[in-house]
Amino acid sequence: MSQNVLAPASGVAAQAARRRTFAVISHPDAGKSTMTEALALHARVIGKAGAVHGKGDRRGVVSDWMAMEQQRGISVTSAALQFSYRDTVINLLDTPGHADFSEDTYRVLTAVDSAVMLLDAAKGLEPQTLKLFEVCRQRGIPVMTFINKWDRPGHDALALLDEIEQRIGLRPTPLTWPVGIAGQFHGVIDRRTGVFIRMQRSPGGADLAIEEEMGADEAAQRYGADWATATEELELLEMTGADHDQATFLAATSTPVLFGAAVANLGVRQLLDLLVELAPPPSARPTAEGADQPVDAEFSGFVFKVQANMNRAHRDQVAFMRICSGRFERGMVVTHAGTGKPFTTKYAQQIFGQGRDTIDEAYPGDVVGLVNATALGIGDTLYAGAPVRYPALPSFPPEHFAVVRTSDTSAFKRFRRGIEQLDAEGVVQVLRSEQRGDQAPVLAAVGPMQFEVATYRLEAEFGVHAQLDHLPYQVAARTDPAGQEILRGVASVEVMTRVRDDALLAMFPDRWRMRFIAGRTPDLRLDVAP
Ligand code: GDP
Repeated sequence: MSQNVLAPASGVAAQAARRRTFAVISHPDAGKSTMTEALALHARVIGKAGAVHGKGDRRGVVSDWMAMEQQRGISVTSAALQFSYRDTVINLLDTPGHADFSEDTYRVLTAVDSAVMLLDAAKGLEPQTLKLFEVCRQRGIPVMTFINKWDRPGHDALALLDEIEQRIGLRPTPLTWPVGIAGQFHGVIDRRTGVFIRMQRSPGGADLAIEEEMGADEAAQRYGADWATATEELELLEMTGADHDQATFLAATSTPVLFGAAVANLGVRQLLDLLVELAPPPSARPTAEGADQPVDAEFSGFVFKVQANMNRAHRDQVAFMRICSGRFERGMVVTHAGTGKPFTTKYAQQIFGQGRDTIDEAYPGDVVGLVNATALGIGDTLYAGAPVRYPALPSFPPEHFAVVRTSDTSAFKRFRRGIEQLDAEGVVQVLRSEQRGDQAPVLAAVGPMQFEVATYRLEAEFGVHAQLDHLPYQVAARTDPAGQEILRGVASVEVMTRVRDDALLAMFPDRWRMRFIAGRTPDLRLDVAP
């Protein structure tokens, strides 16, 4: 052993360097929840790690809000699971699991440094996978791909790589290669070392997989044709230059690929190891002014999610903040960049599902849930010391619109409060239309599931029964007051004001109609970007 001792990870830069903050993203049913459990099992610690000291204060109150998740089998809240693995602190951010692409997922992706994309070996790329890949590409988020369910019959491994390359234009660079087709999984060859790791599920499958390094001769003897196929495929990969390249991975133009089966914990250790070795740690973050905030500057962070009533017994509102720079200490007084007002971080917690632990200190890459933070909205920056402000989180152009009303006039105040709350949390976008007035706001969503969540919550949390009337629009584009005037009186087009930012949105029945009208009216300013 050399005398070189690793520097103690006490400084902020060192703490940031040992963090990996990522999200697992996938089409529903590809195995995200199973993978989350498998990752946590490998770390053997749930909710308590590294610099974060848990107090084991798990209340476990099941709210109606959670009840909806249970009923529907969907995850609508997102938070972060933190655990340590080797010398690394892993922050796994939860993303909504339902089929609609929601703004929520997008916001979570603004708070990660990388993503793990799960593919179901039997299904390959699914609609949600394609959308998520696209978002990662746009944001330049490095993606590792884990081809899951290799214990079941599925597609051919090379065909899956081909699909990734053809359909999303990312160059796949397998880091492990399976021996045995999907359904007959014997283990993987680590392409960097050439070592074959034989894998077997533990009896019952609930424990870590049983792994054993095996020499090529023995493997050839034991696995015959499967071994021959795997080595042939490896030669092919080498010829096509499908080798891992750190620069293109970080630039989000290539994706390392791994094979495994989360349900049996096969290949999960390899994934964790590669996250530690290759995934980027938190780094300097661009500010709204275009500068870069280094991780070891004074404390700063931004809110990427706001969630009310996670715990009905407390009627609390939690703002989830990702730390971008500096050391966070519970109780510190920070500044809210939007208002310049001080904000005391007395109630700082680590929240995942129903588990809660008090956080005393945290570092760049960590997620802190600020409880009772009613003054904080999505995208808000908090800082200590020199002022800093992170760019606003973009909101997606909505594609679904509905008027929301309640016929119960005695509930109108609660209705209004409920709508304001949903708007503040970004559950839906709330629009005001001149022609309908304040009694009948319009809800706009990226995916229709957002409407369901909105009406459910109005009922469960505000005691308001609301009706939705869907509007026949599919496209919204930003316009300006001049555009609003131009469009006045144009048939089947409406302009509404987004309450959150006073943006004017012009709504059209379809893209074709929008282009037609735009083509006819060169002065009309239309912008479909968020
Ligand atoms: P999510 O919707 O992406 O969170 O998916 P889940 O984790 O709930 O998994 C969906 C289904 O696939 C469940 O029945 C899991 O048991 C199953 N599943 C997950 N991973 C694997 C795997 O590696 N192999 C097999 N055979 N089934 C899996």
